[in-house]
Amino acid sequence: HQERLKRHATQPAATRDGHPVAILANLSLAEEASGAFALGAEGVGLFRTEMLFLERAVPPSEDEQFELYRAVLQAAGDRPITLRLLDSGGDKPLPYLRLPLESNPFLGQRAVRWYAQHSDIIRTQIRAALRASAQGGHLRMMVPMVSEASELAWVRQLLEEEARQLQVPAPPLGAMIEVPAAALSLGALAQHADFFCVGSNDLVQYLFAADRNLPAVARPEFAWHPVTLRLLDGIVRAARAAQRPVSICGEMAARPELLPLLVGLGFDALSVAPSAILDLKHAVGTLEASACEDLAMQALACARAQDVEALFRPSSARQP
Ligand code: PEP
Ligand code: MG
Repeated sequence: HQERLKRHATQPAATRDGHPVAILANLSLAEEASGAFALGAEGVGLFRTEMLFLERAVPPSEDEQFELYRAVLQAAGDRPITLRLLDSGGDKPLPYLRLPLESNPFLGQRAVRWYAQHSDIIRTQIRAALRASAQGGHLRMMVPMVSEASELAWVRQLLEEEARQLQVPAPPLGAMIEVPAAALSLGALAQHADFFCVGSNDLVQYLFAADRNLPAVARPEFAWHPVTLRLLDGIVRAARAAQRPVSICGEMAARPELLPLLVGLGFDALSVAPSAILDLKHAVGTLEASACEDLAMQALACARAQDVEALFRPSSARQP
């Protein structure tokens, strides 16, 4: 463990044949940052900002947010921090938004869908982040729950307005790809997005119409189901065509058995819980990129999830 730590803490992850695959951290607290970097995180691929907004009667002030974002950016030094704009709704309702009760919150006014209605909240968040980034660090921002280009264009305009007012440069803006409609329209989204990040938890949930928190319907094999792989392959190809980098976060990015598939599909970066970073960086170094590509091609040609599983877990091939 100590030896791995030494080797991977400072080196960027790459396959044996030299193909880089950045391993980034998913964080929700500033205090987690230095630990993640000590474990070798090459940046933060997903900084979930909800924590600060939950369980309170009014939203956090601009200054309170500024302090948090500045702390993360400072801890990161030159490493990129991808700050996700507020992703509330779904299973994370905020009382002060005063949204009507919904019978299907995951299909309701989640994240970017309420931004225009409460633009003060999102404007404050953007201002706090821009002010923090003016103090140093490498900030990127991304928008959750995007389903069409107009939503992203709206955020882009707000971001540019605020950057102009504060006289700071606007950071790169990305779209989370976690709604199938977005996954099928990357070309249009690329007009307003500098990068893409697949939110695999939600993408799989919406693809199979299966609540991600309900084990009775959310089956583990959805992660490697040929339908999921085909959608991921289309996302990576469209991102390539638009010359936009694409990463993947969500639980499946941290599953070691899926790593060769994700590398083979061509993701530029994987963002995972800090506890998974060291093993994942080590595992990337054992892979051969061309073999991963062959495996992904074979997986894409499969008809059933169990056929894909037999490729990466040969012992499962005995199952009927
Ligand atoms: C996801 O949907 O995969 C994701 C990373 O975002 P969250 O889990 O916070 O919805
Ligand atoms: Mg999500």
